[in-house]
Amino acid sequence: MELNKLNVLSDETVAIVGVPFDDKSSFMKGAAEGPDQIRRIMQDGSSNYSAESGVVLEEGRHFVDVGNIDVKEYHSDIGNGISQVLEQCNKAIILGGDHSIAYPVIKSFNRKYPELHILQFDAHTDLYDEYEGDRYSHACPFARIMEENLARSLTQVGIRLVTPHQVEQQKKFNVDIITMHDWYNNRKLSLKGPLYISLDLDVFDPGFAPGVSHHEPGGMNPREVIELILSIDVPLVGADIVELNPLRDHAGITAMLAVKMLKELIGKMVKQS
Ligand code: MN
Ligand code: MN
Repeated sequence: MELNKLNVLSDETVAIVGVPFDDKSSFMKGAAEGPDQIRRIMQDGSSNYSAESGVVLEEGRHFVDVGNIDVKEYHSDIGNGISQVLEQCNKAIILGGDHSIAYPVIKSFNRKYPELHILQFDAHTDLYDEYEGDRYSHACPFARIMEENLARSLTQVGIRLVTPHQVEQQKKFNVDIITMHDWYNNRKLSLKGPLYISLDLDVFDPGFAPGVSHHEPGGMNPREVIELILSIDVPLVGADIVELNPLRDHAGITAMLAVKMLKELIGKMVKQS
């Protein structure tokens, strides 16, 4: 654990936490470089800290970056790190890392917010019972989350790969899946709070976000996701931005998209507080 600055967090500040972990990526590594790449691009001076909700984000006041969790043991290090952060503040955004981190992260959020609801943006449902022999693969976190009742509801948007097994899992866990085929611009979602947003960057079309391990064409465009975030009218208490793979990125384009999403998510949380 390398977290710092926990002492300056307050109820009003959004904590930013990095989890540089990609051991549970099935296809290729690289997502562990995500958190530091997002910070690099955020601080490169090419854009300012204004969010479209009308807030100009001030570091130290609206958000504090507490650093990276040094993960040696998947469950305990990630879980304890996030719990420690949530003892100091009410809202946190986690930078991944592959999507496997969502399970221990959300387990910690559930302890603070037992009524938690989840909105997941993803090309994939990540509902596999197990994948290549690993029940904690990045293809499985939402199966673990739902079987342990860590969320009152799970809504998935942007999905475009569904297998018969996933359909079974969807029914078993009563997941509300809005496939890309059923998506249309400005579609309204009925969401409940407290809400956690899990944003897998492969929800975007690879044309907008080439820097992910799994390219799945036919995805969302950034405008649609931003508008959806801006339209949320229930309390947003946590989020993650996962699966940025800088090794696959071009000119930092996906990292900048991750930065944009980070600013909008912080802006939404600040606006609500
Ligand atoms: Mn995912
Ligand atoms: Mn995905």
